[in-house]
Amino acid sequence: MDWIWGTLFALLVAGAAYRKKSLTVSGSAAAVVMGAVYYGAGNLFWFGTLLLFFITSTLLSRYKKREKHELEKSYAKTGNRDAAQVFANGGLGMILVILYTLFPHPVWMYVFVGIMATVTADTWATEIGSLSRRQPRSVITLKPVAPGTSGGVTFTGNVASMLGALVIGVGASLFLQVIGEETLSSIAPYALIGLVSGFAGAYLDSLFGATVQRMYRCPVCGKEVEVKEHCGVRTTQSRGLSWMSNDLVNLLSSLFGGALAGILGFLLF
Ligand SMILES: [Zn+2]
Repeated sequence: MDWIWGTLFALLVAGAAYRKKSLTVSGSAAAVVMGAVYYGAGNLFWFGTLLLFFITSTLLSRYKKREKHELEKSYAKTGNRDAAQVFANGGLGMILVILYTLFPHPVWMYVFVGIMATVTADTWATEIGSLSRRQPRSVITLKPVAPGTSGGVTFTGNVASMLGALVIGVGASLFLQVIGEETLSSIAPYALIGLVSGFAGAYLDSLFGATVQRMYRCPVCGKEVEVKEHCGVRTTQSRGLSWMSNDLVNLLSSLFGGALAGILGFLLF
């Protein structure tokens, strides 16, 4: 029965996202599969937390879209998600919900909160930070860098990162209360797990972006970008390790946020 509800909920959400052009056709199909597994094998805690990430990041990517348009061309992740991006954001969580079903233990839930807090913090920081009027500074050297540079952070972006991480922690705890698995007393520890692991995970993402992540330079406008094409031409690698793609950086940061949350869960509960 849960699988049927999960598929129906997921169809509703994916359908709405497709109509609003937040998901491509392949992205919608992937979202339906993912939603069905999150609700069918899991419950509202898993499904709701994923949805909280998806809805808030979709709304934020639409907020002041025109001001962010130029910057978005240099980022690998954009508002319109295809199947690969849907799995990049929710794939690890899908593995965790399956692990939780096979070997029930709360540690999978803490790790999941850490992973979702990391991707949410990273997205909020990118979407809100790119609106900051102050010039970003390199997370390593603290010197000003061009807006859109990987590894560049702003005060606004850091605050947004913390807020996004906190929202996931609090939201996850509230979903657990709705299904009767936790009481009010779990809000504080979950909020702390989300805040610390999500902020740290997103921070690691910036550190990688400033150091080892593969970056490209556009031969037309001279900007440093994450994408292989800019201004209509192919970009060339400018720095970083050739195998350290943006996807791999996201994966490693999420795993770090998840591991940290797992440890915090053991300490706090
Ligand atoms: Zn260019």
